[in-house]
Amino acid sequence: MEFVIYSFVQLLLAGFENTRNPYIVEGVYSFAAINMGKVIDTLKSPYEKLLAKTKEMVILGTATGIIHWDMETKMPPKGVGLRSQQLALLSQMSHRLSTDPEIGDLLSKIEKHTDYESLSALQKRNVYLLRKHYDEQTKLPEKLVKETAKQEAIAIDVWKKAKGAKDFSMFKPELEKMFKLRKQAADILMEVKGTASPYDALIDMYEPKMDARTITKIFAELRDGLVLVMEKCRRGSKRLDTSFMNRKVPVEMQEKISKELAEFIGYDIKSPQAGGRIDETEHPFTGGYYDDVRITTHYYENNLASSLFSILHEGGHAIYEQNFKESWMYQPVGSSTSLGFHESQSRFVENMVGRSREFWNYFFPKLQVLTGGIFSNVALDDFVRAINQVKPSKIRVEADEVTYSLHIIIRFEIEQELLAERITVKDLPELWNQKYKDYLGVTIENDSEGVMQDIHWASGAFGYFPTYALGNVYGGQILEAMERELPNWRDKITEGNFQTLKKWLVENVHQQGDLYDPPVLIKRITGEELNVNPFLKYLNKKYSWVYGF
Ligand code: ZN
Repeated sequence: MEFVIYSFVQLLLAGFENTRNPYIVEGVYSFAAINMGKVIDTLKSPYEKLLAKTKEMVILGTATGIIHWDMETKMPPKGVGLRSQQLALLSQMSHRLSTDPEIGDLLSKIEKHTDYESLSALQKRNVYLLRKHYDEQTKLPEKLVKETAKQEAIAIDVWKKAKGAKDFSMFKPELEKMFKLRKQAADILMEVKGTASPYDALIDMYEPKMDARTITKIFAELRDGLVLVMEKCRRGSKRLDTSFMNRKVPVEMQEKISKELAEFIGYDIKSPQAGGRIDETEHPFTGGYYDDVRITTHYYENNLASSLFSILHEGGHAIYEQNFKESWMYQPVGSSTSLGFHESQSRFVENMVGRSREFWNYFFPKLQVLTGGIFSNVALDDFVRAINQVKPSKIRVEADEVTYSLHIIIRFEIEQELLAERITVKDLPELWNQKYKDYLGVTIENDSEGVMQDIHWASGAFGYFPTYALGNVYGGQILEAMERELPNWRDKITEGNFQTLKKWLVENVHQQGDLYDPPVLIKRITGEELNVNPFLKYLNKKYSWVYGF
């Protein structure tokens, strides 16, 4: 997987929620030396050289990350020309660093050495991750990498315009070109990775060792379970009032609330040792690495929920990124194991904690004070029900906890058809609209609220979508495991204590870094293979209260 944080793929992902584009500011890394543990003498020199090279790649990646963050938050409009040149140069440098033939030589030297077996599991994992990354990076022709980067800029630009004009025919030729380039990369990566299909090779970039066959099985069970929960909610005895959610809350008030939420989850933005900060962008995202992980949100006066839950969501990503083992900094293992696991942590904080009755038991009185009486005539239970409303919708990013994964399943099924070349780009709108009718019962009126709503395909990020729903599934399993060990976690949350729960997450999830591939890690944490039962059980229990079934 790409542990190298601002590799080619991450560049493709820039511009929307990109949790793996760490940056670092000047001076922060100077005190942290590489800590690699004891290495057997014969392998010490090549291993140390390898890690020194990794460190350079990571630092370069973090520099790229911070100028990306700056581009989204602070850059004056005129800076875009210079910025694109900075990014192009950095991406070229990064590609050169990660395809340096010396890395290949060092890797071979270590792997073929008679003392290889005496390396620790951690050291072997570092070697494995570097080998994987190196092979993939070197097998992709530079011409293809460049063309894809160029096409990405064009396709995103045209996508924005086509979306505004609600005109898929404008976007279609650029998407066709982008798809062709990604398919070429997928065909090459399929060989390198030894996957069963080109689509599996793309999935593996975001979710290592996951494949379409496994996802198909998991998503089929997930879909059946979610449709049942939706049906039960529809027939439930409770009618939800959500009208007060549109009450006007001034931005300054929302900023104060955001700071309180950050403090609650232990995301430090104000102490002299703070490693985080909150800024405002059109689309919320998280970026950073270890000691400098920043989040963004968006404040809408008539939609308080939007900033509340984006802070908790991005905050969940941020505390994961801040809590890898300190001694693993700059090493391949000092990273998340996958985007699905990343998403499991953000959704855990946002939904399982942030939309729980227990959390609002603690936080609602505070919210009432912070908003100066705007919600004084709203009852706690009505508020908790309102923020958990289940309503099939057309737009993924606005979807609730129950219907969200259905948006993802639709995208996964379409990507699978596309990569297998059973359909072509021109078939996308019709298939999209049909599936939205079948799975969510909504009618798509135009392609801007349909097939063109997300940036991912314009960016070339095919295979990315499944990780969002896998995050929900992992989250359910992690919750179940945590409940066994911390049966009173809900009481703690009611008391305003998130620390106990966070400590468990840090030890059991965050500190595992990239030591294991996702299928192994989920089993180590929960004792079970990937399965949807805990997530569905959690939803049934929660929503039976929300909707009275
Ligand atoms: Zn996320």
